[in-house]
Amino acid sequence: MSEHVKCLIIGSGPAGYTAAIYAARANMKPVLYQGTQPGGQLTTTNEVENFPGYPNGVTGPEMMIQLQDQAKRFETDIRDGWVTKVDFSGPVHKVWIHDGKEIHCDAVIISTGASAKYLGLASEQKYLQLGGGVSACAVCDGFFYRNQEVVIVGAGDSACEEAHYLSKLCTKVTMLVRRDEFRASKIMVARVTKTENIEILYNTETEEVLGDGQVVTGVRVKNNLTQVVHDIPATGFFVAIGHQPNTDIFKDYLNMDETGYIKNVPGSTKTNIAGVFVSGDAADHVYRQAITAAGTGCMAALDAERYLAALEG
Ligand code: NDP
Repeated sequence: MSEHVKCLIIGSGPAGYTAAIYAARANMKPVLYQGTQPGGQLTTTNEVENFPGYPNGVTGPEMMIQLQDQAKRFETDIRDGWVTKVDFSGPVHKVWIHDGKEIHCDAVIISTGASAKYLGLASEQKYLQLGGGVSACAVCDGFFYRNQEVVIVGAGDSACEEAHYLSKLCTKVTMLVRRDEFRASKIMVARVTKTENIEILYNTETEEVLGDGQVVTGVRVKNNLTQVVHDIPATGFFVAIGHQPNTDIFKDYLNMDETGYIKNVPGSTKTNIAGVFVSGDAADHVYRQAITAAGTGCMAALDAERYLAALEG
């Protein structure tokens, strides 16, 4: 038994809900599957101060509830569950849900997002859950650490970009690089090495994120050559070791870059398969902001609407 859906939206971050609001108001009767992390990455963010329209800020979870309510107001069919398999080989796109349900869709909007990678230390996860000083997004959270000392781990372009961003807000940024060299491009490395308030510690790994039970107070690190352990005082611990786009289930059908970000036709949300559109972080390793995800969610609904209109003649 399969169900026919005009417009299926996969994912429930700002991209998915914005696509839903636009699709529902265009009478496309969207069905949205929330995925394994309803609300997406923002549900792990404490305070969102940079989403226009919230002059006093809003918590990430609260903002996602409001987006969900807005999508519901126009009768988006929002469902629990996640997609386990797709078949985009025919004119009708087939999608399977974890409970075995098979859905045939005219248009599909992928908004499955990306997940920040973390070190996986218990202390890191503890303060991440508490919202007490662990973050994977300097642009989102750096402002909360103005005039304070922070530590950032990572040695790629993201880590360099975020360390440089933080150096303008914080009194001191300590960068932990696990090897004796950066992975980042030369120009990015030059930018961090010549910034006075960034200290780079090579061959250095995180042992533990230290705290008082509520908030981060420092980071215990170990030099992996000398085995010497020492503590760095800090109120913020930023993790910038990469992101993983949640796109595995689409890899047999959609063009992707080498890390798994879906390639869209530039200037649109179209993928290489007609009727399959992508929005949000699943296709964006550059901006990765709630507002840019919402913007491409809107674009995806408009692209899907035009596609369906052409199909219907
Ligand atoms: P990358 O995969 O390029 O880098 C990840 C970094 O994290 C590496 O230096 C890696 O170390 C380090 N790392 C991974 N796991 C751990 C760990 N457990 N402990 C300590 N360090 C760890 O990810 P990015 O997010 O930096 O970049 C992704 C892509 O986006 C790249 O292609 C990048 O060029 C691009 N990008 C471009 C930008 C720009 O041009 N402005 C800005 C941001 C990203 P190691 O080197 O030892 O493996």
